[in-house]
Amino acid sequence: MMTVLILAGELDELLELRTVADQIGAQDVEALVPDALVDGDTLSSLGLKRVYLLEGFEETPPEELVKIVIDLVKKRGHGLVVGPSKKIYRELFARTAQNLSSPCLTDCTSLESVEGSLVAERPFLGGGYVERLAIKRLPALLTIQLMGRRPQTREKGSLEMVRLGRLSTEDLRLRRVAVEKVERRGADLAKARVVVSVGRGFKRREDLKMAEDLAQLLGAELACSRPIASDLGWMPEEKHVGLSGKWISPQLYIAIGISGQVQHMVGVRNSRIIVAVNNDTSAPIHREADYSVPLDLYQFIPALIKVLRERGARVA
Ligand SMILES: Cc1cc2nc3c(=O)[nH]c(=O)nc-3n(C[C@H](O)[C@H](O)[C@H](O)COP(=O)(O)OP(=O)(O)OC[C@H]3O[C@@H](n4cnc5c(N)ncnc54)[C@H](O)[C@@H]3O)c2cc1C
Repeated sequence: MMTVLILAGELDELLELRTVADQIGAQDVEALVPDALVDGDTLSSLGLKRVYLLEGFEETPPEELVKIVIDLVKKRGHGLVVGPSKKIYRELFARTAQNLSSPCLTDCTSLESVEGSLVAERPFLGGGYVERLAIKRLPALLTIQLMGRRPQTREKGSLEMVRLGRLSTEDLRLRRVAVEKVERRGADLAKARVVVSVGRGFKRREDLKMAEDLAQLLGAELACSRPIASDLGWMPEEKHVGLSGKWISPQLYIAIGISGQVQHMVGVRNSRIIVAVNNDTSAPIHREADYSVPLDLYQFIPALIKVLRERGARVA
């Protein structure tokens, strides 16, 4: 029976990755988490056999976490190591896989057991295709796209907690001298029911106020296309959705001034209803939207806000 090791820095990540272990019928599931992450009660209701609590998890650079993961995998014989699709785990898993001569798959959207083999799916060619990969050699390391999956509730089981303590600074080749916490604004996009998303159709940063007002009226979270966060720096990185950002599945996704390139759409396609506001009728987003608004956002959004205010409307 395969032993699975989950790496998670936050409770939501741990909960979601637990479902991945369930999908392949793993009975023996362990986790490596920050020491302050959760209480024993929560952990034992997740059906974990063993939890390694690492002091200073967040401050330990991936280059140093590698040693801990390799050590655990070698000692415990994990067949599979999973973590969230975030930069730190992509780097950590690639380094670990290289050391163990193991397969490493990043950004997987699903994992299943087919006739005794693990089969993973992930976006391919910029998100235009999905590839299915059969894993031929274990241990394998996979980062998983988080999509708000929730584990089944189960009886509390016996759980062994292993405190790993802090890595001795003498062992470190790299030492973090400072960590600055990025201020998070708003709730987690992965859980939002309504999302208002902005793209390069907005000409100036100040104009985003319009989208903020709309989001507030609808009780929605604000998101953006990649250039708005990565190129223009108008919104924080954690708000960009798509292939290289968050994957979301709200009830309602309102894309304003977004062209709908495949790398964007792959992260929002699971939305129940997509509304596109884009004055170019040939923009690809109109082909995927449930409701197309082929109008100038600078006219349509203020008009929509006015109507919503007059009607005292609130969706969520
Ligand atoms: C490896 C890789 C990964 C990527 N990952 C992501 C990702 O995760 N997320 C992501 O978003 N992108 C990603 N991209 C970038 C992606 O290919 C697109 O470049 C990006 O999504 C375009 O952003 P946009 O739609 O905001 O801008 P544009 O493509 O410039 O579109 C702006 C749209 O606004 C419309 N517009 C302009 N003025 C108005 C107006 N007044 N009223 C209404 N509409 C107007 C235009 O018609 C146009 O369609 C990735 C690219 C690569 C290569």
